[in-house]
Amino acid sequence: MPTDIEIARQATLKPITAVAAQAGVPDEALIPYGKYKAKIDRDALPEGGKQGKLILVTAINPTPAGEGKTTTSVGLHDALNLIGKKSLLCLREPSLGPCFGVKGGGAGGGKSQVMPMDEINLHFTGDFHAITSAHNLLSAMIDNHIYWGNALELDLRRVVWRRVLDMNDRALRQIVGPLGGVSNGFPRETGFDITVASEIMAILCLATDLEDLQKRLGDIIIGYRRDKTPVFCRDVKADSAMTVLLKDAIQPNLVQTLENNPAFLHGGPFANIAHGCNSVIATTTALKMADYVVTEAGFGADLGAEKFMDIKCRAAGLKPDAIVLVATVRALKMNGGIAKKDLGEPNVDAVRKGAVNLERHIENLNKFGINPTVAINHFFLDTDEEIAVIQEMAKKYGTDAVICKHWADGGAGAEELARIVAEKADKGAPGFKQLYPSEMPLAQKIETIATEIYRAGSVSISPAVRNQLKQWEEMGYGHFPVCMAKTQYSFSTDPTQLGAPDGHEIAIREVRLSAGAGFVVAIAGDIMTMPGLPKVPSAEGIYLDENGQIEGLF
Ligand code: ADP
Ligand code: MG
Repeated sequence: MPTDIEIARQATLKPITAVAAQAGVPDEALIPYGKYKAKIDRDALPEGGKQGKLILVTAINPTPAGEGKTTTSVGLHDALNLIGKKSLLCLREPSLGPCFGVKGGGAGGGKSQVMPMDEINLHFTGDFHAITSAHNLLSAMIDNHIYWGNALELDLRRVVWRRVLDMNDRALRQIVGPLGGVSNGFPRETGFDITVASEIMAILCLATDLEDLQKRLGDIIIGYRRDKTPVFCRDVKADSAMTVLLKDAIQPNLVQTLENNPAFLHGGPFANIAHGCNSVIATTTALKMADYVVTEAGFGADLGAEKFMDIKCRAAGLKPDAIVLVATVRALKMNGGIAKKDLGEPNVDAVRKGAVNLERHIENLNKFGINPTVAINHFFLDTDEEIAVIQEMAKKYGTDAVICKHWADGGAGAEELARIVAEKADKGAPGFKQLYPSEMPLAQKIETIATEIYRAGSVSISPAVRNQLKQWEEMGYGHFPVCMAKTQYSFSTDPTQLGAPDGHEIAIREVRLSAGAGFVVAIAGDIMTMPGLPKVPSAEGIYLDENGQIEGLF
């Protein structure tokens, strides 16, 4: 099998105007960014439109490489189009951090990719640049406000707004600045996060239009005074200029799959301290243009799917009509106790042992009123016996478990999945419900997620954290959903506890308020908002060959 970038290079792409025509985007709403990318001017789209069915793609707990949610989303979308359904795909935009670090890009893989994968994985249409700039404009205006006398009386020790950069750069995690004397300002401790961890990214992805965007930007808390009262972004008058910087970034991006089907790629918030799905704007626009919209939520279903339903769907008034749960033989083996280096060996017993992880996710999704369809993302070395174990198990839950070979064969490899999922989506999910009502107190929301989804035996929330939550409730933030930040590898907070652990303790060591995005982040475990590079980053293998072609992206 050729590499992702080799496959990408051999693709025959259609001009973006033709892709737009297929998606139903009229010429006047298309803003081409070169030959194969475009933004969509939503104000120029016709009124009304369809009411498409929303299909969420989520997964079991992954191995460090990712288990193929993006790849399966692309494959399912291509397959739906192959069987004659009008489908659209909504994905996140990839970040440069993982691209140059360990995981690689985020444009799918094999024969199920979105194109042009090199541009998508690198600078794309500049949305991340715009978000980084808007974020850092606010940072600069805060230090400038302090420099010119600090009329708002910000406590220098309590400025919570940091700076961002779209790069894995551990050297910038914690810094002291400005240094160098009186003309540079007042030194204080601060640091950088990666752009996808910026609250602006979460805001862009939850905003419904420019007006809502500006309101949310204004609502950002930048720090506190000595009496602990909050100071907002609008107090330093940054919200309007930030909105100007984001006016193009808020428009969804249109690209195509290897099979020339239209795809929206828009926004890319972290799935730990943010909600991990593409923009509300892209999803709602797509639902008006297609009969089926396939979308992905980050990490495993314990984090991604829960946030998709409790945060994104709640904020936007959406609901999924069907859910696809991606499972792989190798991730189940890992959940069954097999080391990463031995995943290539057939091992039916390990799959059986690890299948408890899949069972747990099926049970959890049923708590939202939806029985998922399991997509077995087929890897070259998987054996029939191993696959049979997964299918047997799924039967117990009245769930289909379908073998999908889209990575090797493109849409044709996922036709059966497409047929089953389309039928389920047509029926919809009348029993859909969120895990908790908005009125539930914040601490109880955390406890509900921890016990219902993570199956914790106890939840420890320190008195200081409880007080903080109480204060936010008094300030009017009690109706916010909770965004859990936890390891993606386990239901517990210990990344080595694979399978289906229960009875563990979930300790909430810190809470943060994203007042503009509209959620409270509860941190359980060590969460990195500025990742580092590994000893041998994938950047070392990325280069231009003698023909000027990019090599090493995946
Ligand atoms: P996720 O979205 O769950 O993080 P991705 O779809 O990005 O995962 O896939 C992660 C990596 O695994 C990609 O490099 C992709 O090419 C590869 N991959 C996915 N499915 C398969 C498969 N069936 N066989 C081989 N490699 C695969
Ligand atoms: Mg992905």
